[in-house]
Amino acid sequence: MAVQRFSRRILSLIGLGIAVPALLLAVFGVFLTLRISGDVSRESVHYNQYIARAVVEAFEEELMAEVRAAAGGAENVARDGAAEPDILTALRRGTTEFEAAHFVPADLLDGYALLIVDAQPLLYAQGTGVRSRLYFVGTLLRDNEGQVTGAGGWWLDPERFVRDHMLSVVQERLPSNPRMYGGLEQTRRLSIQIFGPAGDEIGRVRNPYTNRTAATEPMSGPFERFMIRVAATESAPVVWTGRFVALEIAFIIALTLAIVLASSFGLRYTTRQLELAQLKSSFVSNVSHELKTPIALIRLAVETLEMGRVASEADRQKFIATIGRETLRLQRLVDNILDFARLEAGQKVFRFDIVDVGALVQETLDSFRLRLEDQGFAVALDLPDSLPPVRADATALTHCLLNLLDNAIKYSRQRREVRISAEARDGFVAVSVADRGIGISPEDQRRIFEKFVRVETGLVHDVKGAGLGLSLVDLIMRAHGGRVEVASVPGEGSTFTLLIPTADESRGHEEAEARTGS
Ligand code: ADP
Repeated sequence: MAVQRFSRRILSLIGLGIAVPALLLAVFGVFLTLRISGDVSRESVHYNQYIARAVVEAFEEELMAEVRAAAGGAENVARDGAAEPDILTALRRGTTEFEAAHFVPADLLDGYALLIVDAQPLLYAQGTGVRSRLYFVGTLLRDNEGQVTGAGGWWLDPERFVRDHMLSVVQERLPSNPRMYGGLEQTRRLSIQIFGPAGDEIGRVRNPYTNRTAATEPMSGPFERFMIRVAATESAPVVWTGRFVALEIAFIIALTLAIVLASSFGLRYTTRQLELAQLKSSFVSNVSHELKTPIALIRLAVETLEMGRVASEADRQKFIATIGRETLRLQRLVDNILDFARLEAGQKVFRFDIVDVGALVQETLDSFRLRLEDQGFAVALDLPDSLPPVRADATALTHCLLNLLDNAIKYSRQRREVRISAEARDGFVAVSVADRGIGISPEDQRRIFEKFVRVETGLVHDVKGAGLGLSLVDLIMRAHGGRVEVASVPGEGSTFTLLIPTADESRGHEEAEARTGS
């Protein structure tokens, strides 16, 4: 069909012109955002690592500064050649920070470790027994010739030191670190936590928001069993870029969905409008043909009769029958068009009443039987003894049935058989009209109830019609709270079934649907 070809072209146009570039842009946007957010995350990890190392060093410097300040007096007396008790006194006097001053003679220094901070040595060793939590920290003492005479120092509780000095290390020593440059501002957006030997948190400055990019760094020297963790706080760039990325991806997905939906809706709408336009134009030509044919036949019959050219009474009857038949055909077409227009405009008024479907089918068939038999149809009627009553508009129902019978005639070829049956089925009365005609393909079965739709291919080609009959049947059945169904095999025949709700089922429907539109 030309419309389908056209709509396919529109699809490619919409696809190529709008949807594809928009989708590509969206994919590119997601890609770019993910890359940027990946970079920010990686930067964050590096930066956190750098800060963690800076904090470790800052603690060493802080300790070194304390030790240097406390050891000054002892270094002086040692240089002057003082004995151990004097050195101890000087050590004790030098500090309020450390406890239990100690002097270690030079020959016992082997088990002690050295930590070099700012090119200065710091001597340390872990305590044993009851002092296993403590560390000896101290400095080397020399005589006036520069010979190491021993080491002077104290017992340090690393945990207490870390807890007490944490704030000053982070707030004063870190910012005064000349290597921090402009990164100082950023450290305010970081959380710094210290964990003890058992993995428990000893202290923190600011709360971490995510550990996704956190960096951990073991501490050194007397703090060797402690660990620093630096992580992003809520105001860190990595956190808000993460939020922004999530938002942007959600936005892009929503936008993509909107584009896809709008394109498919636009396409369907355009295709439907094009189809309708085409259907309408073929409707006009179909209807004019449908009107012209019976009028021409009637005129011919009337003229023949008027001129008295009819030889026998039998021929006369034949012409009169033609006039009657064609008038009926005209009437049905006009009824269909007017009813359809009223139904579509919501102006059709149904008069619901209790209807005996069996009697209605019988009467309709009686009025139509002549025409069926005239055309050589074998008619079978299968009605049960009784059927539940339905609440319906009898005229509309008859109209439906006539349309189905009319179609059975129009779309049958050699096998001219029509079977009408009725039965009660799940709260409905089902009335079926079955023929052994040309049948309808499955894809056409879905379309034939739409207005103006005619199957224009294959065997139907030479049969004329307006394409309104079945859509009218469908609208009437819906107004009754029922439906029309089709079962058909191409080449074998079709069965159309009207399903009308029984009187109890349709109660309440009467008022609601008395006036109806499409
Ligand atoms: P019309 O008969 O005026 O074309 P309808 O709405 O009654 O319009 O039917 C729509 C189409 O459904 C017909 O054009 C025809 O192709 C198909 N159709 C309807 N009834 C039958 C039938 N009994 N057998 C085969 N095809 C049918």
